[in-house]
Amino acid sequence: MDGAPLYLEPHLEPPLASLLESAAFLHMLVDALGSPVNVVLPDQIARNVERFRTAYRRHNLVGQVFFAHKANRSSALVRRLAATDAGIDVASLAELQHALGAGFTPDRILATGPKSPEFRWLAARSGVTVSADGPGELEELDALVRRHGLPRVRVLLRLSEFETPGAKVLSRQTRFGTSIGSLDQLLDVVERHQETLQPIGVAYHLDTTSLDEKAIAFEGCLLAMDALRKRGFQPRVIDIGGGFGVNYLAHAAQWERFTTELAHAVLGKRPPMTWSGHGYGLRAEGGTLRGALSLYPAHRPVAGAAYLDELLSLPAPALGRPLGTLLLENLYDLHTEPGRSLVDQCGLSLARVLEVRRTDAGVCLVRLAMKASDASLEEHGVLMDPVLLPRSDAHAVTESTARYGGTERAAAARSTEATAGATSAGATSAGATSAAPASPTPVAVHLTGNLCLEADLITRRTVHLPRLPQPGDLLAFVNTAGYCMDFSATHAQQQPVARKVAVHRDGGSWRWCLDEQYWPIIRPGGQQI
Ligand SMILES: *Cc1c(COP(=O)(O)O)cnc(C)c1O
Repeated sequence: MDGAPLYLEPHLEPPLASLLESAAFLHMLVDALGSPVNVVLPDQIARNVERFRTAYRRHNLVGQVFFAHKANRSSALVRRLAATDAGIDVASLAELQHALGAGFTPDRILATGPKSPEFRWLAARSGVTVSADGPGELEELDALVRRHGLPRVRVLLRLSEFETPGAKVLSRQTRFGTSIGSLDQLLDVVERHQETLQPIGVAYHLDTTSLDEKAIAFEGCLLAMDALRKRGFQPRVIDIGGGFGVNYLAHAAQWERFTTELAHAVLGKRPPMTWSGHGYGLRAEGGTLRGALSLYPAHRPVAGAAYLDELLSLPAPALGRPLGTLLLENLYDLHTEPGRSLVDQCGLSLARVLEVRRTDAGVCLVRLAMKASDASLEEHGVLMDPVLLPRSDAHAVTESTARYGGTERAAAARSTEATAGATSAGATSAGATSAAPASPTPVAVHLTGNLCLEADLITRRTVHLPRLPQPGDLLAFVNTAGYCMDFSATHAQQQPVARKVAVHRDGGSWRWCLDEQYWPIIRPGGQQI
């Protein structure tokens, strides 16, 4: 069992899974547009909005779902979203312009984050709601409105550093929002500027997966609403930010085994599982494991809309009754700002294999036409296997009969079972001979990028693939639409930034267009793109 490949198979839902079965189509995209290429599935974002709406309905709540635009720059995703009833959360001048240009009316836009004067002006001028970080920002908004004769601005007061008396849960340090302890002073500022600012409610956004921390912040907001009402305001919105998460992996057991083996490797109890023995935050000190795993919890049984549902069902730490019930009783609107979870299953990143070689030390290197920042899963701590799309298969069969992603893996899993008991050295060396023919044997490889830089590893972990890739094959990094597609992409070394295409299922085949060409309209022929 020890020698079995340490797979981290991605969780795939039907649209993405069926796209991976169309290897010829994906090869055609990379042939035409170069490597890497990012592919987005606009219709999926609409399905994800519907899942959040279902969670709202389950708790009889109303309010708006604002997509945190920063998770992806795609025009297609934003334009498709504009055709739903969702809103959008913008965090820069360009994101605001993008949202307005995609068809969002100002009442469906929320401006958050650190703001430039120009961003603030356009937000105020167009009538967008502003989530204000603190008294300084409120003063600046007030001055802006007066100086330019702008309409009164609707503001949300972003709060932080919540605590419950007696509770041992410490809220994490954040540079955003006003400490709940300074709420009174903040309300003084709002009171002074009633002519220019209209406080519609309070907000928080915590970058944590902890439900307990969020429940404390949520309750803190309910209490802050009371404070606003005592001052004579009529707030109606609680905005609980984003951070609902994504489940990236298909199998909990693979994730558990990987993290257990990683700890063993760090302790020297098994061969290294990473480049240069990198420990992902773990280290050995005198035979003891220290540090903390700095990885995203890639297998998350409760994520996205289900996480929201769970949070709303949780009892408020001091008030005792479910948070959703307390919202409902007060007739407050619930606003959410999901980023990553709203683009779950909305895209993938494709890279061409350029070279496969084995070092003298026996390490198999697979070099891709892509740099680490093009699929920044590693930077975000998300570990997930790419799906191999062999070139030969793409040519051998027509698109309508192609069946790669799933069966490639299934076949490999079967062959793994057949060779169970083989040592990891045996499994590795079988495929790692340079210029080896395509082998059905699982291999352990390192994925390297196209920069002239030691650190340009697509992932620092040893990746197990169902078979040895060949130059010309594609690796598909799936579910990259949340932060891992374009957030960090650079022109380093003048290597190209990936082009982005929007794809759409039309009967039995896939159609595509450049991301910027996509509009969510049905054309006369009935075809969407
Ligand atoms: C980044 C961010 C979000 C989205 O977070 P996710 O973890 O992607 O859901 C929402 N609100 C604010 C203020 C943010 O900064």
